Amino acid sequence: TEIYYDFGYEAGCGKPDCSLNCDCSRFLEIWNLVFTQYNFDGKKYTELPKKNIDTGMGAERIIAVLEGKSSIFRTTLFKKILKKIQEISGKRLTSPGDDGFDTDANRAIRILADHIRAIYFLISDGVTPSNEGRGYILRRIIRRAVRFGKQIGINDYFINDIGMVVVNQYSPHYPGLSEKSRFAAKLVLDEEKRFTKTLKEGSRLLAEKISGIKDTGRDFLDPKDAFRLYETYGFPVELTTEILDENGLKLDHDKFEHYFRQHTEKSKKKTSFDKKIDKNLDLYRNLAKEIRVEFLGYEKDQANTVIEKIISSPDGGSTMLTEELSAGEKGEIILKDTVFYGEKGGQVGDPGIIRSKGGIFIVKDTQIPVENLFIHKGFVKEGKIKTGEEADIEVNNITRRDIRKNHTSTHLLHWALRNVFGDQLKQSGSFVSSDRFRFDYSIYDTPSGEQIEKVERLVNEKIQRDDPVRCFETTRDYAQQLGTIALFDEKYGKFVRIVETGNYSRELCGGLHVRRTGQIGLFIIISDSSIGANLRRIEAVTGMYAFNILKNKEGILESISENLEVDFKKVPETVKKLKEENIKISEELISLRVKISAGNILKVMKEEIDKEEYKIIYYNFSKDSAFSFLDIKSMGQVSDFLKDSFKNLKTFIALGNLNEGKPVIILSCTKDMVESGVDCGKLAREMGKIVKGGGGGRPDYAQLGGADPFSLDKAIEYAVSSVRKTAGLAK
Ligand SMILES: [Zn+2]
Ligand SMILES: [Zn+2]
Repeated sequence: TEIYYDFGYEAGCGKPDCSLNCDCSRFLEIWNLVFTQYNFDGKKYTELPKKNIDTGMGAERIIAVLEGKSSIFRTTLFKKILKKIQEISGKRLTSPGDDGFDTDANRAIRILADHIRAIYFLISDGVTPSNEGRGYILRRIIRRAVRFGKQIGINDYFINDIGMVVVNQYSPHYPGLSEKSRFAAKLVLDEEKRFTKTLKEGSRLLAEKISGIKDTGRDFLDPKDAFRLYETYGFPVELTTEILDENGLKLDHDKFEHYFRQHTEKSKKKTSFDKKIDKNLDLYRNLAKEIRVEFLGYEKDQANTVIEKIISSPDGGSTMLTEELSAGEKGEIILKDTVFYGEKGGQVGDPGIIRSKGGIFIVKDTQIPVENLFIHKGFVKEGKIKTGEEADIEVNNITRRDIRKNHTSTHLLHWALRNVFGDQLKQSGSFVSSDRFRFDYSIYDTPSGEQIEKVERLVNEKIQRDDPVRCFETTRDYAQQLGTIALFDEKYGKFVRIVETGNYSRELCGGLHVRRTGQIGLFIIISDSSIGANLRRIEAVTGMYAFNILKNKEGILESISENLEVDFKKVPETVKKLKEENIKISEELISLRVKISAGNILKVMKEEIDKEEYKIIYYNFSKDSAFSFLDIKSMGQVSDFLKDSFKNLKTFIALGNLNEGKPVIILSCTKDMVESGVDCGKLAREMGKIVKGGGGGRPDYAQLGGADPFSLDKAIEYAVSSVRKTAGLAK
C-alpha cells in the first residue's frame, strides 16, 4: 500500500537491520493508499455504508527523488529560502559528520522554512490571524516561527525578509502571493511585534517567578502562574515548560490542564443558546427530513398556512414535540410555508405574529437550525395553538421595512468602500438588524476621516439616485461571469441568488432588500473603528434612525449656541477662542497661586546651607494636598522664584509632586553650581530609573516623570546626595 524510493545502500546507515522504517535517509515514502472504512465521531468507529480507497503522491517528495536529495528541504523548492535563513541567522542545514552538526539548529531551520512558506500561502488564500479556527492556526504558525527564529539567534523582526523570498520564488505560479504581498507583510509584522512583546513581558514575569521559587527552595512552578502567563500574556505553555526545564524546574501539567479546562468551560458557557440548539439538533434534523418549508418572505409580509409542528420549550424544562400550547407557554412553531426570515447571512430573524382560530402566538425570533427548517420562537399570547390548524401569519412590517433598508445599505456600503479603497478591502462579516447594522472589513491602511466621509457621501448619492434593486436566481457560473462579490469561504450550490443594485453592485445574498435605493432615505456612519489587526468595523443607521441622530446633533448644537449666545455658525470659532482664553487664565491663576503660596512653600521646604555659600533646597509636595495644583511647569516657576531670592548663593533645587498619581520632578541650579560640576540633565536621566520613567534637560534645568508613585522621596534623596558629593559637601 505504499511506494518507497530507495536511494541505495550508500545513502543509508549501513546497519544490518536497516529497512523501510529505519530513521536514516535511505528510504523515502513517495506514495500511499488510504482505506477509508470507518466514521470516527471522537468516541467510536462505525462502518461507512460506502467504503473507498484514496491514493496520493507527495509532489515535493517526487522532486526530492528527481533531484537526488534525501529530504525535501534540500531541493530547489527550499534552496533560496534556506540561503536567506543562513544569511540572517548564520546557521545552515548540517548532516551527521559535518563540521558543527547541530540537530537543534537543523530542526529550527526546517521549521522556519516550512512555516514561513505556509504563512504567505495561507494569507494569499484569504486567512488572517485571529483567535478562532484557521485564523488561529495561522497565528500559531507565525508565533512558532518567531520562537524558533529566536532559538537560532535571530533577534530582529525577520519573517518578512524570508517571506519575500517565498513570494519571489513562488509567485510566477501562484500570482495571489505577489498580489497580497504588501498586505501579508503588514499582517506578519504586526503579529511578530505583538508576539515579541508577549515573549518579553512573559519571560520577565517568569524570570521573577523563577527567582522567587529558587529562594524558597522549591523545584516547581505553581500551575496557576503558568496559566496566568498563558491567559494574560498569551505566553505559550510549551515555552514556559522549556524555560523551567533550563532552570531545572518542573510544571505540573495535569494541574495546568485542569485550569485550562475550567477556563475554556467558562468561555463556552457564554454561548448557551448555541448549546441549546446543539441539544435539540437531533430533533431538528429528524423534523427537517419530513418537512420542507417554503419561504415566501421575499415577496410577502403575510400569508395563510398550516401549523405543522409545535415544540414546547418551557424555561428550565426540557424541549419536546407537543400537540398544543396554551396561553403563557413558550415554544417553537414550524409552519408549512413561512414569510418569516430566519437568521442567516448576518441578517437577524423576523419577529411577528401567528393567528389560528384558537389562539395568538407572538413570534420573537426566527431561526434556521438545520437547512430549510424555519423555527418560530415565542409564546402563546391568547387561547390555544394546535398542530394541523390553519394560521394567518404576519411579520412585523415596521421592523421588516427597516431591515430591508439596512441590508441594501450594507451592499451600498460595501460597494462604496471598494470604490474608495480598492480591491484590497474585503468584507469579513456583517450584522443587520432593524435599528442599525455593522459591517466588518479587512484593510491594510488605516482609513482617514475624509475617506470615511467620502464613503458616506457615495452611499447617499446612490440613495438619492433611487436606483432599482433586483434580486434573481441564476447559476453559480453565470454569477461569476457577472463579477459577483461573494464572501471567500461561503459554500454555494449550483443555483445562487444575486442581489443587483443599479448596475454597479452585485452580491450573492439571500437577504431581504428594498426595491429601490431611494426607500433607504438617509444613511449615516456612526463609527468606524479597529476591532483587531487590520480588521475594522463600521456601524451605521438609515431612515428615521439616521434622521433622529441628525436631529439630536442639531439640538445639541442649538443648545450650545444658545448658551454661548452666538449664532450657530460661529460656535466653532467661539469655542476655540474660549479654550485658548481658558488655558491663558489657568496659567495666570497658577502663577498667581505660586506667588501667593511662595511664602508657605518656603516654610515647609527642606533646605540646607553648607559651607555658607551653598544652598540645597528640596521638597516632596505630594505630602500636602494644598500643593496638589503644582505641576511640572509651576514647580519650574517656584524654582525660578527661589533662585531669585538667593542670588548670592550657589543654589540647587529639587522639587517633586504627584500629577494624576504619577511622579514628576524638576531639578534646577545656578550657573556657578554647574561650574562646580552639577549636571541636572544627567541627574534626571539617572533618576528616571528610580521613578520607572525618564527625563532629561540642560545642566542648569531638567525635568522627569515616572510611573512609580512611591519613588518620589527616594529619587529626591538621590539627587540631593549626588549634588552633595559633586560639590564636595558630603557629610
Ligand atoms: Zn537505515
Ligand atoms: Zn446581503
